[in-house]
Amino acid sequence: MIRFEQLVVRYGTLVAVDGLDLRVPAGSLFGLLGPNGAGKTTALSCVAGLRTPTAGAVYVDGVDVRARPSEARRRVGLVPQRLALYPTLTVAQNLRFFGGVHGLAGARLRDRVAWGLALSQLDERADARVETLSGGMARRLNLACALLHDPPVVLCDEPTTGVDPQSRNHLFDTLRALRTEGRTLIYTTHYMEEVQALCDEVAIVDHGRLVVHDRLDALLRATASARFDVDVTGADGAPARADDVRTALAAAGLHVGAVTQAERTLEEVFLDLTGRALRDEG
Ligand code: ATP
Repeated sequence: MIRFEQLVVRYGTLVAVDGLDLRVPAGSLFGLLGPNGAGKTTALSCVAGLRTPTAGAVYVDGVDVRARPSEARRRVGLVPQRLALYPTLTVAQNLRFFGGVHGLAGARLRDRVAWGLALSQLDERADARVETLSGGMARRLNLACALLHDPPVVLCDEPTTGVDPQSRNHLFDTLRALRTEGRTLIYTTHYMEEVQALCDEVAIVDHGRLVVHDRLDALLRATASARFDVDVTGADGAPARADDVRTALAAAGLHVGAVTQAERTLEEVFLDLTGRALRDEG
């Protein structure tokens, strides 16, 4: 669906993307990872037609972005890393504005604005100025604005920066639903647990070059781990003690490096204690 072919982008003497070759299959939720400055945002900008490659090309659904920019742009929704919203306009005004930018008008624009309000769960804040929204609400609106023209390709550039677990949970559900509808999504983040929870395929870039590209499960399997995460309960159903597990493993002739009682993740505890409902105060 998206093809990077020997993509090179230079900023003066700095080579931000250095011969990137990568194919993102249609219908995938694709994790694009890399340290700060690896060239992720720059590569996504080329897909969205916001930056012209120094050399090489990007194709979206077979369309060469440089040769046919408006056709390519119709197919792509970019959810930018920094919020791209007008703080003094209301939620609905922002949606109308971005719908207009994408060429929507009349009844179609009205329908899509209503869709965007529902998607971001901001119907009740339609007339609130964006500057009064919480960080999570603004992120949700940022996503809706990028999707108003119903693009088959969605690029999410670190969309969870500064959001609480409730909003992140909502965002993940939304992205999974978009994929189920058949869209192709590229997701960049520095949070590895997000990629494990969301993505089916992953590429890691560094210094503008591809380091590895594989299915997530294959990538994780390729590096065998001696660690296991096993729930062990006694006959009474209560959690077993680490010492009992160690003794049982040793009796089975297995060399035991360490047995540590697993903890629940902080996020699980946090969501249990604070609930999964979105927080829209602020
Ligand atoms: P991060 O994870 O920090 O967002 P990234 O992987 O998205 O990083 P880019 O933002 O694409 O990386 O930046 C790649 C390199 O290009 C960096 O060295 C960055 O400083 C440089 N760079 C990015 N945009 C520009 C620009 N407009 N002018 C000059 N240099 C730039």
